Amino acid sequence: MRSMTQPTDPAQSAAGNSAKTTSQNSGAALSGNQTRTVLVVEDEKALAMGIEDALNHAGFQASSVHDGQKALDRIRAEKPDLIVLDLMLPSLNGIDVLRSLRKDGVRSRVVILTAMATEEDLVRGLEAGADDYMKKPFSPRELVARVEAQFRREQMDHRPADVLNLPAGITVDLARLEVHRDGEVVPLTPREADILAYLIQHRDRVVTREDLLLDVWHYKSANIETRTVDIHIVGLRRKVEPDAAHPTLIQTVRGKGYRWYDA
Ligand code: CA
Repeated sequence: MRSMTQPTDPAQSAAGNSAKTTSQNSGAALSGNQTRTVLVVEDEKALAMGIEDALNHAGFQASSVHDGQKALDRIRAEKPDLIVLDLMLPSLNGIDVLRSLRKDGVRSRVVILTAMATEEDLVRGLEAGADDYMKKPFSPRELVARVEAQFRREQMDHRPADVLNLPAGITVDLARLEVHRDGEVVPLTPREADILAYLIQHRDRVVTREDLLLDVWHYKSANIETRTVDIHIVGLRRKVEPDAAHPTLIQTVRGKGYRWYDA
């Protein structure tokens, strides 16, 4: 049942070894992983191979490509379930790959992998349609956990199929993952739609970053990186707030978290 590329002794592979705990901890997820295809887009071949091994070891069907244009061709042809996407790539950078595939309507989940880590870079990545990101250097084990978390949300999906009418004529279609503003359609990522739905469902209270990491990202622990939440909120505000510089809908509650307010 396991992939043929999996090392027979996980201890012989650094990447396989790192992924071992994840696999052992998630027997149910493992059987689900076997039907999932993941394309690793990374030009450092040794790193690409390490990630591929870790994902295959966790039960995914992973393969890799080392060039931006070739990645786009493969994605269009194969529509993998998830793409691990480096940003600095030969021939076409990761952001351009992402924009092109979203423009083509490809809905694959995308986890950006980047050494560039200014807030602006990350927000640009999320705006272009990424679902999550990881900064280099990283552990293959954490990457596998993030990839699994991307799929876990599907099983717990209880997003209201609502169309929201917001101030300034902005509408949000949570089911179709679209924001309509100024006559334009702005795509939402599945993650952004989940955050929005969660904030709205819990509008009677302050939602903490930990709430979001546990309930929306489905991380097993909220210690990972609360900044991930803030970066997504910045991206989301740019899409849904009438004036993102002065947010009124997703309000920051200092020292606590965020609260939805549209009354
Ligand atoms: Ca690179």
